[in-house]
Amino acid sequence: MNHDNYYPFETTPLPYSIDALKPYISEYTLYFHHDKHYKGYVDKLNALLKKSPTMQNVPLEALTKMSDKDVSTNAGGVYNHELYFSSLTPDYKEPSEKMSELIRNSFGSEKEMWNELISAGMDLTGSGFVWLAVNPDGELEVVVTKNQDTIDFDKYSPLLNIDVWEHAYYLDRQNLRRDYLTAVKNIINWENAEKMLNASSDRISG
Ligand code: MN
Repeated sequence: MNHDNYYPFETTPLPYSIDALKPYISEYTLYFHHDKHYKGYVDKLNALLKKSPTMQNVPLEALTKMSDKDVSTNAGGVYNHELYFSSLTPDYKEPSEKMSELIRNSFGSEKEMWNELISAGMDLTGSGFVWLAVNPDGELEVVVTKNQDTIDFDKYSPLLNIDVWEHAYYLDRQNLRRDYLTAVKNIINWENAEKMLNASSDRISG
């Protein structure tokens, strides 16, 4: 999430090359996902706000909660995809000791956390996102949202999300959603998740 947070929104470039996530996610999938699906939400959100000057000073996170369903859906599409692409990296590093401790305290083990993330993704009917977020008790929690809804920002601080719309995996794996979710384990950007964690604790303590 490195662009400024207001209209007019810009399509944030991928933080890695289009073929960098192979063999877990192909360049075909990433191309359509970033350059078509995500960009489509950016363009549509800008077109909607162009006609609604009062919403041009509203930050992206607040736009995702607007009662105007067109605005909230397209703002959600922008927010969710920017976090998703930032949640992945070709340069995988294990979670830090600080993150590992939080994972163990919240789920018992990293394996159990993945069981929960993958089950949540498998149980989601239709399209949506699976999130790893800090809950009000300061523990990590797996949260599921439908379509382009975003997580409840008043309650949760998101660390990462995984897109489980079919367009995230269908070209590579057809209906095999579990294979996709399992593959994503290998490309999670734990450094970015920790940055999000530190930003959220600064916000709470500040
Ligand atoms: Mn998507």
